[in-house]
Amino acid sequence: LQNFPLSLLAELGQIKDFDQQSFVDCQSQPAVTSIRQNPIKSKLDLPEGENVPWCSSGRYLSERPVFTLDPAYHAGAYYVQEASSMFLEQYYLAIAPTEKPMKILDLCAAPGGKSTHIASIFGNNSLIICNEVIGSRASILEENLTRWGNINTWVTCNDPKHFSKLNDFFDVIVVDAPCSGSGLFRKDKGALDEWSEHAVVHCAQRQKRILTDILPCLKPGGILIYSTCSFSVAENEAIADWIADNYSVASLCPAVPLEWGVTQTVSETSKSNCFRFFPNRLKGEGFFITGFQKTGAEERHSIGKFKSAHVQKFQQNVDEFLQKDDYVLLANGQDSIVAMHRQQESDFQILSKILHFKKFGLSMGQIAGNALIPSHELALSTAIAPTLPSITLEKTAALRFLKKEDPGIPIPPKGWYLIRYEGLNLGWAKSLGNRMNNYLPKNWRIRMELPE
Ligand code: SAM
Repeated sequence: LQNFPLSLLAELGQIKDFDQQSFVDCQSQPAVTSIRQNPIKSKLDLPEGENVPWCSSGRYLSERPVFTLDPAYHAGAYYVQEASSMFLEQYYLAIAPTEKPMKILDLCAAPGGKSTHIASIFGNNSLIICNEVIGSRASILEENLTRWGNINTWVTCNDPKHFSKLNDFFDVIVVDAPCSGSGLFRKDKGALDEWSEHAVVHCAQRQKRILTDILPCLKPGGILIYSTCSFSVAENEAIADWIADNYSVASLCPAVPLEWGVTQTVSETSKSNCFRFFPNRLKGEGFFITGFQKTGAEERHSIGKFKSAHVQKFQQNVDEFLQKDDYVLLANGQDSIVAMHRQQESDFQILSKILHFKKFGLSMGQIAGNALIPSHELALSTAIAPTLPSITLEKTAALRFLKKEDPGIPIPPKGWYLIRYEGLNLGWAKSLGNRMNNYLPKNWRIRMELPE
């Protein structure tokens, strides 16, 4: 890669483990393809692949398939994610996870790589707020989380400063910061064209601003995870030093076997533990991550009384669609019903006064007359009852359903049917007795031509 910025190469020369020749050679190699499986939606008929060493559900693929033509992709059976970023899991292991429900904020979350991963590792007990400031990107985030199917991943579209009223609220905050993107040059040539030393300075200033806005929201004792896909010290170790200089925090250090090829660095002044991913030393793109625990004792905040907004009336309509659990139902607008874990309702009451929600709880669908028109989100949710009437399609018919074409199957008796592929839900169809209506939302349909 002739155009790799020389000033950045010179800077990297100062960093442990950096081998310029092999790094530059590697920049002209194709990026590695990897996926992370959804532990709740098993089944994969992808080619056998090597495991990603630092992520229990991560897998490398030997070639990049056309994911759009795999119904399992649309069902949320896996997420296509760059392997280095999956290292986040090591911080989860390092903080000795318990069953205790946590409140987690993924502040810069679109398109949802880290959010879907957090959802899988922290489980359904915890509440995960996945935020994205840019509206169009928040919609993509919402779609990816809907596909992933966890009821506890809620999507907000807010600027970091809007969180300022939530003092000491979150147990974990992940800031996967917008950055100058040098770690992704070989995946995204546009990032190379946009790179400049000025952009690095600008990004570092923005990273500090974002952290300044959000750090008061972290509880004492809570965990901050900060990451970028930049190689620049100014956006990485220097930010770790800035955090350590300005806040009462202790650096976290997951134990990392040498053979993984991950480079452990310490920041210059605070000696904070950091991890760098050089693509010539491991199978993954450029990445940086560091983590801290906020010191001090956790103060108890009482939630205060809140007026529950349950709607009892439709309990019966929705019960048959859900696995048994302790849910409350909330009305969202005139005729739309949302189910949520009972213990999360008080958080919702607090958050909905402050944040702009795009998605919260599980949107069950619309009430029409006395019946529920079930939502697509419900079809993809892992909370859905397992025994609903269903029709299983083979691959070609499944792809036709996903293209919103007629899958060409015999019409079953009247009623709602889950359309399935290899045990995975794809969406709803309704039989009227003489024809079937395909309820896949229009904007979810496959747009490319299907192979003959
Ligand atoms: N965490 C995501 C994942 O794993 O899929 C990738 C996040 S990407 C590195 C950074 C995100 O920060 C982008 O979606 C970008 O829109 C958002 N962003 C940009 N400016 C921001 C700002 N000032 N405050 C917060 N987020 C910002």
